[in-house]
Amino acid sequence: MVNNRKVLMLPGDGIGPEVMDQTKKVIDWFDKKLEVGFDLEEDLIGGASYDVHNVPVTEKVMEKAINSDGVLFGAVGGPDYDNLDFSDKPERALLKLRKELGLFANLRPAIVFDALADASSLKKDIVTGLDIMIIRELTGGIYFGEPRGIRNLSNGKREGINTEVYNTDEIIRLGEVAFELASIRRKLVHSVEKSNVMESGLLWREEIQKLYDEKYQGINLEHMYADNCAMQLVRDPHQFDVIVTTNLFGDLLSDISAQLTGSLGMLPSASLGEKSDEGYRKSLYEPVHGSAPDISGQGKANPIAMILSFSMMLRYSLERANDAVLIEKAVEMVLKNGFRTADIMQNGKTLVSTEQMGLEICKNLDKLESEGY
Ligand code: NAD
Repeated sequence: MVNNRKVLMLPGDGIGPEVMDQTKKVIDWFDKKLEVGFDLEEDLIGGASYDVHNVPVTEKVMEKAINSDGVLFGAVGGPDYDNLDFSDKPERALLKLRKELGLFANLRPAIVFDALADASSLKKDIVTGLDIMIIRELTGGIYFGEPRGIRNLSNGKREGINTEVYNTDEIIRLGEVAFELASIRRKLVHSVEKSNVMESGLLWREEIQKLYDEKYQGINLEHMYADNCAMQLVRDPHQFDVIVTTNLFGDLLSDISAQLTGSLGMLPSASLGEKSDEGYRKSLYEPVHGSAPDISGQGKANPIAMILSFSMMLRYSLERANDAVLIEKAVEMVLKNGFRTADIMQNGKTLVSTEQMGLEICKNLDKLESEGY
C-alpha cells in the first residue's frame, strides 16, 4: 500500500472549476480502482478567494500549498476583477505561489495526439507522434535582471533598459531538472541560448556542459542557438526530446511548440522548485490556458489540458509514471473514438460537453484496466 500523498486543488475562476471537476473524476477513478489514495484538499484562489477573503490568496492557502506534495491549479482572472488594484488582482495569486514555492523550472510539453495531428498548422507528417518537453527558466533572466527601466537622456530622448543575468547556480539547478527529465524520456537534451552574441549565453553553455561532463554522460547533450531552435521546431520538431533554455527564449519557444499541437485546451504545464532533503521538488501543475470567461459556465471548456496536468503530477511529483501513461492512453482513445469539445471539433466528429469529455476519459480508463493495463 502506497502512502497517501497530499494534493492541494485550487480550481480558481471561470472555467477553472469546470475543468477541475473533470480532473476530480479521474483522481476518484484512481482512488477507487487502484486503492492508492490521495489526500485531497480544495481551497479558493484568485477572484474566488478575493470574493470571500478580500485577497487573491490567503496565508492559510499558501501554507497548505507549501506543505503539499503537489498543487493542482485551474485558472484565475476574469472581467469582474479587471478594475482591482494590481496587488489584489487574481493573477497575483499565481505569481505569489510561484515565488514562495520557489518554482524556477517551467515544464511545457508539446504532445500531438495522432487523432489531432490534422489540427496543427504544420503538415500532418511533421507533427504526428510529437512529444517534446520545453523547460524554461522561470524566475531569472531578462524579465528580472537589474538594471532595468526607462530613463530620460540629456538629448531629450529616452532609453529602455533590461538586463539578462544568469549565475552558475541558476543554470545548474535548471540543467539538473532537464537531465533528470531526459533520463526518464528519450535521453536527449538540447540546451538553447545565444552564446554567439551574449555573454550570459556563453556562461549558460559552459555551465551546462560542465554539469553534463560531471554527472550526466548517460544522456545526449546538444547545444543550439535560440534562433536556430525556433527554425528547427517548425522544420523538424521530432529531432527534440527535452529543450532547456532561459526565461525569454523559453517564453517564445514554448509558444511555438504550443502551436505545433493545435489547441490551448490540450496543453498542460508544470512548474518545479528545489529538491527537499527527502528528494521531492515543490511543484504546481496547471493548464496553459486561462479562465476563458467567453465560454465559462457553458459546458464548452476542454478539460484535457487540466487532466493532462494531473498526469504530469503523477509522473513528475508522485513517481507514478505508469498511471500517467494510462491517462494519456485514455485521452488518446477518446480522441480516436471521435469525441471532441468545441475547441478541437472537426467534421464528422461527435461534439461533447466538458462533463461528457471527463466521463468518456473515465470510461476509457475502465476499458484499459479491463484489458490489463
Ligand atoms: P484564455 O486562455 O482564458 O482564453 C483564450 C481563448 O482560448 C478563449 O477564446 C478561450 O475560450 C479559449 N480557451 C482557453 N482555454 C480553453 C479550454 N480549456 N477549452 C476551450 N477553449 C479554451 O486567455 P485570455 O482570454 O487571454 O484570458 C482570460 C482570463 O484568464 C484573463 O483574466 C487572464 O488574465 C486570465 N489568465 C489566467 C491564466 C492562469 O490562471 N494561469 C493564464 C492566462 C490568462
